[in-house]
Parts: sequence; structure tokens; C-alpha cells
Amino acid sequence: MQRPLRDRLCALCEWLAPAACALALLGVTSAAGAAPVALKTLDVTGTPDATHLVLDLGGSASASLFTLTRPDRVVVDLKAVVVDRQRLKVPAAQGLVRKVRLAPRDGGVLRIVLEVDRQVRAHWVANENAVGEDRRLTVELAPLGADLAGATAVPAEAPAAPPERKLSLATRDLIIAVDAGHGGDDPGATGRDGTREKDVTLAVARVLAARINSEPGMRAVLTRNGDYFVPLRERIRRARVAQADLFVSVHADAVVDRSVAGSSVYVLSQRGASSEAAKWLADRENAADLVGGVSLDDKDDVLASVLLDLSQSAAMSASMVAAEKVLDELNEVGEVRKARVQQAGFVVLKSPDVPSLLIETAYITNPGEERRLRDPHHQARLAEAILTGIRNYFRENPPPGTRLAMLAASAAGSGAAGGAAAPASALRR
Ligand SMILES: [Zn+2]
Repeated sequence: MQRPLRDRLCALCEWLAPAACALALLGVTSAAGAAPVALKTLDVTGTPDATHLVLDLGGSASASLFTLTRPDRVVVDLKAVVVDRQRLKVPAAQGLVRKVRLAPRDGGVLRIVLEVDRQVRAHWVANENAVGEDRRLTVELAPLGADLAGATAVPAEAPAAPPERKLSLATRDLIIAVDAGHGGDDPGATGRDGTREKDVTLAVARVLAARINSEPGMRAVLTRNGDYFVPLRERIRRARVAQADLFVSVHADAVVDRSVAGSSVYVLSQRGASSEAAKWLADRENAADLVGGVSLDDKDDVLASVLLDLSQSAAMSASMVAAEKVLDELNEVGEVRKARVQQAGFVVLKSPDVPSLLIETAYITNPGEERRLRDPHHQARLAEAILTGIRNYFRENPPPGTRLAMLAASAAGSGAAGGAAAPASALRR
């Protein structure tokens, strides 16, 4: 949390002769290469449970984040960042955010103020998406007291020294998007005793998210955390905004034959992937989205489809491996309906770059399983099994830049350079 040298020099300015100060600044500025970076887009998405501020910048910048009360606000200060007010679209009210304001301040700081409708906690979503020189920054807001992401809370009062995060920090948490199927007007399947799928999925998803948050180096993001409707595409979008490493959708199955029981795990079918690819390619001029960290809109047709195909294939094979790990663990908890991972064209599985699974935890139409689905102990066992599968998968396949990858590298004995050198070299990136 050390302040950049240039700031400390600026603070000294009034004590130095102007010429000396100018020289000092010049020297430090060119050494640090601190040309202003452009804020390209600013977006606010989400619900009253979890709202995200997403900033796309044309390069690296230092940023700080803090909250203020009376009235409640969230403030992001971006250092040496400029904005073209004619071109930047300021987003409308969304989720917890009532209004977005931005203004340049002294010292080349661009301040973004989110007026929020209640006290919130705000934290950085730890992984920035670096594409060439471009950087994406995401801030997540949750109502104070909400047990959503288990994130480190930022003090509600403005701290004397706002917490600061240098953007090229090395390790990040693994982000698991946990999706409770159905919700609100869509109850999903219903058991004979009236158990509703949407309630069971939310209960299991919440336990799973809490368990994930208690794992070192892992963090959960719930796509919904209450009984309301979230469209399927919006669930995918939330996972991608959070830059999830894995998307896990929790469901309960239903069938007319009440004797059928057991769990199943699904990944996207090839057919579902192909139709999704066609959709992405057709939409790509309108889509500001990156696929696998790459923009498609400036590529010709062939290159765009090759890049998309590579991204989808990687996501699909990762999904399959992760699904097998989860299925193995569900096998320990109870009956598995189908011993192999199933493939289908479910919409929530269609992220082109986030490995995705859909778990039918049990048959809500089977009286025994309906009873078990309602039982908090059984819900906890299901969540534990899913977590164990996820953990086993990531231990074998740690995404680069995560704490898990770093641990794996040092365990593999990368010599004397191991533990100490890795973070330092990553900082220099
Ligand atoms: Zn369902």
C-alpha cells in the first residue's frame, strides 16, 4: 500500500524551489512512464444483491476505492487517468447505484462517485483482465451485512488512507460463479410434498458459496441471492463480469416416474456450442464483450471464428474434466443417475470462455429425494461434494495468476527462485 514516489514528491512541492520540483517531477514521471491512460468505458450492472462497476482502461493505472456515508457513496479514484466526456456514456441507475458522477480532480486524478441507495461494502474483484495494454477493473458492491461474496469489507467511513491497489498485483483468487437455478416467478420443478426447486437450489447454492469462501484462494459469486427471477443470459453475463473461472448451476431434476432417483452432471453439447458460436459471430459488431480476453469485432470472419472456436473448445474440455471430478464426489453422497457426464444445450452452459457445469442434484419428484433435498444436512453434504470436485479440478488445473498456481509452482520446486521471486517478477509485469 505504499504511495507512488511521484505523490510523495508532489506533497513536498511547497517546500522545494519550483525549478527543483519541476525537475524532480520530470525525472520521476519519465522513469515511471506515467502518460495519462484513457477511461474507455464505464458500466454498472447487477441487482440490489450485487452490483458491479466495470471500468475499461487503455492501460495500467493506480486506483483506490473507499466508501462514504451521509449520503452513502462509493468512490473510485483513478490516478493519471483521463476521459473524453463527449464519448463516454455514463450509465443509468442500476442495482444499488442511483447515480454515477465523474470529475477530474487535482493531480490528474479522475474521481468516479457512485451514489448508492443504502450503506454498501465495496471491494475489487481481484482479477483484472489484461488484453494487450488494456485493463479491466471491476468493483463489486453488496448491501452492508449481506453475506454475498464473503469479501473483505471496506470500512464504511472514509479511511484516512484509502486502500489502494496497484493493478499489476500478482496473485488473485479463483472466482466460482454459483448459480441457483430458477427463482421468482419461475419455481422450477415441484415435489409431491410441495418442495419447490427454486428454494432447494438457493439453499444449496448459498451453502456452496459459503464453503467456497472459506477456502483459501477461492471466492464465490452468487448469480442470485434471493427469491427473484434472473434471465438465463443474465446469469451467464454476471459470471463473465465477475471474470469467473468456473460457472456451476445448481438444479433438481423432475420426471413423471417417481421411482427415478439420483444426480447428474451436464456440460454443453457440441451442437449447443455451434449454435452459440454462430450467434456470437453474427453479433460481434455490437458486442463490446471480449471472448477469452480477445476482441472479435476487429477480426475478419475466418480469424474471429477460429479464435472463438479455440476459446469454446478450451472451455468445453475444461468443463468436462471439472464435471467428471464433481460427478465422482456426488457418487460418494448418494445415487448417481447417470455414471457419465451428460451433454445438453442448456443456455446457462453457453459462456464461450467460462467452463460451465449444470448439476441436477437429485430428483425432486422422488419422495425420498424430495425429503433429502429439504434437509439442511443433506444440502451441506451436496455442497461439500461439489466443492471437493471443484477443488480437485483446480488443484490439477490451476489458472495462471492464481494463488493456487503459485503454490503448485513452488511445490514443484522451481528452485531457489521459487516462493520469493514469483510475486516480485509478477509485479514487474
Ligand atoms: Zn431446474
